[in-house]
Amino acid sequence: MSHVAYVNGRYTPHREAVVSIDDRATQFADAAYEVTCVWSGRPVDHAGHMTRLARSLSELSIAMPMSPAALTVICRELVSRNRVNRGIIYIQVSRGIAPRAHAFPARVKPSVIVTARGGAGPSDAVAEMGVKVTTAEDIRWKRRDIKATGLLPNVLARQAASAAKAYESLLVTPDGVVTEASASNAWMVAADGSLITHPTGNDILAGITRATILKLAREAGIPVTERAFTLKEALAAREMFLSGTTTFVMPVVQIGETTIANGAPGSVARDLRERYAAYVAQQTSTDAAWNV
Ligand code: PLP
Repeated sequence: MSHVAYVNGRYTPHREAVVSIDDRATQFADAAYEVTCVWSGRPVDHAGHMTRLARSLSELSIAMPMSPAALTVICRELVSRNRVNRGIIYIQVSRGIAPRAHAFPARVKPSVIVTARGGAGPSDAVAEMGVKVTTAEDIRWKRRDIKATGLLPNVLARQAASAAKAYESLLVTPDGVVTEASASNAWMVAADGSLITHPTGNDILAGITRATILKLAREAGIPVTERAFTLKEALAAREMFLSGTTTFVMPVVQIGETTIANGAPGSVARDLRERYAAYVAQQTSTDAAWNV
């Protein structure tokens, strides 16, 4: 079966799907995107992803190309046509196609790309062992709250992780703060058992998974503090883990050459991973998962 993609109003075989060389996404990364997890053929936190896409576009003064309901119809169609049971939906909206010039073109229509594919997902076997992460300097721009396609710093950080046979790279500011990771949010459990993660704002992407985990942790009575924490604190943490759409909750057992605690996934991370998995299973058990 050949994969089907959606590009600017048309469903087309994936390998034939193309964008213009004048699309501003290709020249300026003038675009925002979303990645949603598909579980049992339905999306996880779909409404949250739609809201964040609308916000990213609004911050970039790019018009939302269609209503969230219309975009949902396309997502649903692609999940169905590509027979995705577990996988991801990718949505990208650029400012549009215009002759190259930095300032916004006078009249331009946003370009829309949507794909859906199976595979890619959090592995329970990996999570049971926990993962190693590396660190990289956080050299990104100052609007990390916008989910924009300009991801070179993230790509370089993830490549450094890959070269070190690590799962992820923690992004660290020059003053030692762990903001997040190249494609996930970072969490630590302090010696007193409290859960700590960087507050939202311009410094990190407000992860949709992060928001759900905060809710689940609070419901479970786990004390949570949203504050910046340093790499030094992380290295001495009782537990460390990552969260994200394709990561769910991933325990971290090693940062660089330093083993975290006893080198095994911690009880808070394991508990939250289970709670998150139950949340995903429950939410994707009915078509209400597509509601926006
Ligand atoms: N932080 C960054 C930089 C990301 O790219 C991502 C996801 O791709 C996340 C955090 C996690 O966000 P979410 O839970 O919405 O996937």
